[in-house]
Amino acid sequence: MLSKPIYNITPFTLLDYPDKSACIIWYSGCNMRCLYCYNPEIVLGKGSTSFPEAISFLQKRQGLLDAVVFSGGECLLHKNIVAQIKEIKEMGFLVKIDTNGSNTAVLKQLLQESLIDYVALDYKATASKFQTVTKTDLFSKFENSFAMLQESEIPFEIRTTFHSDLILEADWIEMIEYLTQKNYTGKYYIQSFKNNVETLGKLPSSAKMKEQECFSSLNFQVFFRN
Ligand code: SF4
Repeated sequence: MLSKPIYNITPFTLLDYPDKSACIIWYSGCNMRCLYCYNPEIVLGKGSTSFPEAISFLQKRQGLLDAVVFSGGECLLHKNIVAQIKEIKEMGFLVKIDTNGSNTAVLKQLLQESLIDYVALDYKATASKFQTVTKTDLFSKFENSFAMLQESEIPFEIRTTFHSDLILEADWIEMIEYLTQKNYTGKYYIQSFKNNVETLGKLPSSAKMKEQECFSSLNFQVFFRN
């Protein structure tokens, strides 16, 4: 039986690839268990779509969509993901990866073979809070992925989900200092946790984010997404 690694496909978006039209392929499964994750059904559930079915869909979108976003779950964990990305890139689509940064070997290969055009890398928390937020000890993997992207030529963004119980003011200061020390000059997106939606972990409602003084005078741009 054909394996079905894909949870589903969002056929059209103008929001997920900067200035491009795209579809999103949601790969099921993830190696993290972030308390605030909005996609428990994708993280814990099984796929419904095989890769050949995704290719059939994309064949009908050639010339109509600019890009394909590989998301999830964690798309880079999947067996054959490099070959799958290569096949879609060869169809003429730009490729964006949404990743938690944990699979450094695959990211390295994708960069070396010039198979990706844009990356959104999650910056979950400080090193000391990483376990609390993600239920994993993969902060060093995030660091390696970040370093590889910094050295690469391809554009990328960093993004953090804010929940007031998980990221305190002192954490922001540490996270901002970290990016500054690493000479990050790209875009940093901060997304507020949405209260009253189903999440992987049990979290109380989050308070609204305050304007932080530590966000002024930075070498990188900070954007807030509600
Ligand atoms: S938010 Fe965390 S658990 Fe959810 S898909 Fe992303 S990395 Fe996985």
